[in-house]
Amino acid sequence: MSAVDIAFRSVTKTYGDVVAVNDVNLDIPKGAFVSLLGPSGCGKTTSLRIMAGFEQPSSGDVFIAGQSVVGVPAYRRPVNMVFQSYALFPHFNVFDNVAFGLRQKSPRPDRGKLDLQVKEALELVRLGGYGSRRIWELSGGQQQRVALARALINRPRVLLLDEPLAALDRKLRRDMQIELQNLQSTVGITFVLVTHDQEEALSMSDIVCIMREGRVVQSGAPKALYDEPANRYVADFVGRSNFLSGQILGRSGDRVEFRAADRTLYGRVPSTAQPLRNGDQAALMIRPELISISANGKKVPNATDIDAKIKNRIFLGEHTEYLVDAAGLGDMLVLTPKKEDVGSGFAPGDTVVLGWTENAALVLADT
Ligand code: ADP
Ligand code: MG
Repeated sequence: MSAVDIAFRSVTKTYGDVVAVNDVNLDIPKGAFVSLLGPSGCGKTTSLRIMAGFEQPSSGDVFIAGQSVVGVPAYRRPVNMVFQSYALFPHFNVFDNVAFGLRQKSPRPDRGKLDLQVKEALELVRLGGYGSRRIWELSGGQQQRVALARALINRPRVLLLDEPLAALDRKLRRDMQIELQNLQSTVGITFVLVTHDQEEALSMSDIVCIMREGRVVQSGAPKALYDEPANRYVADFVGRSNFLSGQILGRSGDRVEFRAADRTLYGRVPSTAQPLRNGDQAALMIRPELISISANGKKVPNATDIDAKIKNRIFLGEHTEYLVDAAGLGDMLVLTPKKEDVGSGFAPGDTVVLGWTENAALVLADT
């Protein structure tokens, strides 16, 4: 069994009538890069602040390295937090911002040791030589790196990051995502990142916890969430999908007979799915890249086939994106890779046949 750095057991946090965190169970493995992903207001920051010790749970238990820390204040926990706003001291220079945590320690490290540690921390975030700069002389990305150096200098067991890249523009954010990942593998510290950006969470994390209205709906490796979402919400949050609403007609093991509009379709229920029964309303989900397009009259063997008409084509270099009107089922999105050259040769107005395998069609709770 791998070691767990932070664990939540039935953690709930209420503010008056608002349930910010609702009966959450979590295990953050040691050394992992974990993201809490969900829309604004779903309880991400509150969960992080409970880990940090800035908030105490209304009920439930929190463990760090196996010890209950309920009631233990933030400064006595082996964790550090990087805030959304960076929260740097504007009247201090870069050196003094980074040295702050060390100077709070007792005993205080001597001058030589402190200088060395600050230097190392600044080099870690590629700001060597910036110690005497003023905060207002730095770009957003550099300020972010100062905040990281300041949080890492005490070598916490866990680093908590609350939307640390939200204020950066798109290009810089991408660069910083790569830097954060490199930093995490260099220092080997557990990172817990809060974000509402699915691409960010999926591209950086070992484990993503998808949150909704104070609860963790599903957590797992990005690929597991993508391939085996527990319900429509997760599928919709992780990547792009086509959803066909309908009803479950019958089940045999994980194979499901499904009615959408006037069509009977077949799919499977992922192993992680919420319970589904005959007669339930549900959604059939097919990823756009798992749908093939063929010329009219050419049926795909061993696949569900649906007549369709091309509405729109967007050429995107390595793949082509089609919006199609699938007979009786409404609009669907299809992505064809460039190497299947057949897949880029259709134009708006063309009639085509869509195909997908039963395995590609997932039957999910429609919530
Ligand atoms: P997120 O970080 O996912 O956007 P938060 O954890 O900040 O969400 O907030 C979750 C819910 O709790 C929201 O409805 C928010 O308004 C509420 N909330 C958070 N902090 C407080 C507080 N100190 N007092 C009252 N309500 C709060
Ligand atoms: Mg937040």
